[in-house]
Amino acid sequence: MKINVLGTEYTIAWEHNTPRMALSDGFCDETTKEIVVENYEGDDGKPGVKAQLDIQRKKNVRHELVHAFLFECGLAENSNWAQNEELVDWIAIQGPKIYKAWQDAGAV
Ligand SMILES: [Zn+2]
Repeated sequence: MKINVLGTEYTIAWEHNTPRMALSDGFCDETTKEIVVENYEGDDGKPGVKAQLDIQRKKNVRHELVHAFLFECGLAENSNWAQNEELVDWIAIQGPKIYKAWQDAGAV
């Protein structure tokens, strides 16, 4: 899947149990313009696994896309706040709600 991030094309790739997914459920590689996300293939219903993995997959993609936007706008590497995982996750979690409120208000 290709996504336009501020004029730069990023590829979203889904992987499961690959070496580069060993440390996280996703990452954004601005050097290759690639977002790699865990797909949790075959994990549904396993003990210790979240019940609604589709919600988790979507949140992970939003999170990595936020990183991509921060990289492409030039803020990611020399800004502490733009590298803050808590802030990136907040945007990823709240973004759909903010967008819905803007839509409801006729502001987009
Ligand atoms: Zn992150």
